[in-house]
This record gives sequence, C-alpha cells and structure tokens, in this order.
Amino acid sequence: MAAKLIDGRALAAKMQHRIASRARALRDRGCPVRLDAVLAGCDADAPARVYALNQAKMCRTLGIDYELHEPGPGCTQRELLDVVDALGSDPGVHAIMVHMPLPEGVDPYAVQSRIAPAKDVEGVNPANIGNIVYGRSSLAPCTALAVLEMIESTGVALRGKFCVAVGASDIVGKPVAVLLMRREATVVSCTKYTESITDLTSRADVLIAAAGVPGLVRADWVKPGAVVVDVGINRIEGDDGKRRTVGDVAFDEISEVAGWISPVPGGVGPVTVAVLLGNVVSAAESAATGSNPVDISSQASLTESPGGA
Ligand code: NAD
Repeated sequence: MAAKLIDGRALAAKMQHRIASRARALRDRGCPVRLDAVLAGCDADAPARVYALNQAKMCRTLGIDYELHEPGPGCTQRELLDVVDALGSDPGVHAIMVHMPLPEGVDPYAVQSRIAPAKDVEGVNPANIGNIVYGRSSLAPCTALAVLEMIESTGVALRGKFCVAVGASDIVGKPVAVLLMRREATVVSCTKYTESITDLTSRADVLIAAAGVPGLVRADWVKPGAVVVDVGINRIEGDDGKRRTVGDVAFDEISEVAGWISPVPGGVGPVTVAVLLGNVVSAAESAATGSNPVDISSQASLTESPGGA
C-alpha cells in the first residue's frame, strides 16, 4: 500500500486524552461536565439506543456525566419540542444533543432549530451551521469538523489546495466545503447531478467522499498523492452473506494511488464522536466562564485568516 493511513481511532484517542483532562479541570473547579441527550420513541434494540448506551459509556470513561431523556414511544413533535425547550432554559444544562432518527411525523429541522445554540454540541442548529460561514466561534457540525481534523492531522496545508467534496448534504458535505473555504482552499462541491465528476475529482489535492454510495470513488477518480477522506458509512451484505460496514471509497485500489487515506470503519466515525465530546467540554467551559463556546478544531486559524475571508 502506497498511501499512509489517516487512523481515526488513534486520532480520536489523542483527542479523548485532552478532553478528559479538560473535563477533570472543570470538575476540580466544581463545574462537572454533563451531556444531556434526548432519545425519542425508539425500541430497546434500535441502533440509536445502542449508540446512546455506548455514548454514555464513553462519557463516563472521560469523566463526563450523561443524562438520557426519553419522551417515550409515540411522542409527538410538540412533546419533543417541550423537552428540548426545557433543557434549553435550564441553567444547569450546558450541552444538548438529540439522537436521530426521530419518530415518524417529527420534523428534524424544527427540533434542531430549537436546541439552544450555545448548548448545541452537535452543531445542528441553523445558527451554528450558518456561523461557520463567518468563521465565528461556535459549535460547528461535528462530522465536518472531524473531516477537517483528519485532513490537518496529515500535516498537508490546505491554503490554496484544490479540494473536492463529493456529496453536499446540509449536515456533512456543505459544512465541510465551507470549513475548507475558511482554510482558503479552492473548493468544489459535487452532487449526484455533477457532470463529468471524475474530471474534477482526479485533479483534487484533497478529496472528501460523503455521498452514502458504497465504493463510489474508484482509483481513476483520485490524483496520485491526494489526501482522501471517506465519510461514508454504508451497511452492505458481503459475498459471504454477512453484513458489514463500508465507506464510499474503494479502499484497496485507492490505497495504491492516494498519499493519505482514511479507512471505514476506524476513520471519520471515531473522530466525530471525539469532536462531539470536545464540544461538550467547550460548552461547559463557556458556561463556567460566561464566554462564547468555541469549537475544538484549531479554531484560531478559522478566525485569524487575513482579510477575514
Ligand atoms: P445525504 O443522502 O443527505 O446526501 C448525500 C449527498 O451525496 C447528496 O448531496 C447527493 O447529491 C450526493 N450524491 C449521492 N450520490 C452521488 C453520486 N453518485 N455522485 C456524487 N454525489 C452523490 O447523505 P449524508 O447524510 O450527507 O451522508 C453521507 C454519508 O456519510 C452516508 O454514508 C452517511 O452514513 C455518512 N455519515 C457519516 C458520518 C460520520 O460521522 N462518519 C456522519 C454523517 C453521515
């Protein structure tokens, strides 16, 4: 394999170490860090519940308290908004997230818009998503920040680089593109309607795959030596009939071409989890000091670009 691995698990472990020491420092000052998560109307074995239980375990390991709020099966949008509003106005709560998917008939945008922006540790409130355009200190979308963390962990400087994001969803692809622009990269954002897409991707110094299409990005899409970050998480059935998780990138063949590549699993996923918990600590630090929340992704250079671009 020619490409170097962008090891998400190793990067996440380093980030967790820092998060734990920041959480400890706050606890020592009498300000314990807590994440309040909302899980609405799902079965005992639903993936969202498994994720929430794992999250609780991870929080405990890092010295973060975890409170799960469950409005119960069949909960309506009104009831869910009431829970989110109550957490938003509770001065004892500083970090809120709402697990997806939501019950049928509940509009995710309506719920995400109601999470108090300073407590919105997933960065899904439109105010937080919008603020990344201005490079303001805010809690930016976790997966997009995780992508940036992974690229920056390679040491490849983004300024002036040609970056292509394949996938332009509101919560992943578009925020990734904006964060790359904040780094003064030249950015092209592609969707399933983009014509001659490989003409663009094959010139990219940095290629981000976030389309949700297993194995979409093949070796001939990639410029030799490029940084390739795979955001995709797709469950497919293998030749042996077993289900497994794969990304959007044909890992083996691209490993022969790229300079850097992130795997799935073990890539963006663990770093996203670490970014979220970093945001939890940032929100707690802000609540303790009365300052604005900051994100953990080298925020200085997001706010210090010459000309304020
Ligand atoms: P989405 O369905 O909301 O958006 C997909 C985007 O990809 C759209 O802009 C669409 O036009 C584009 N697209 C689809 N097919 C394409 C093609 N053939 N060529 C070019 N563009 C194409 O998806 P999403 O929520 O942004 O998620 C994308 C992937 O990332 C999924 O696999 C999802 O599971 C994964 N994901 C991972 C994390 C993480 O933490 N690692 C977080 C969120 C999403």
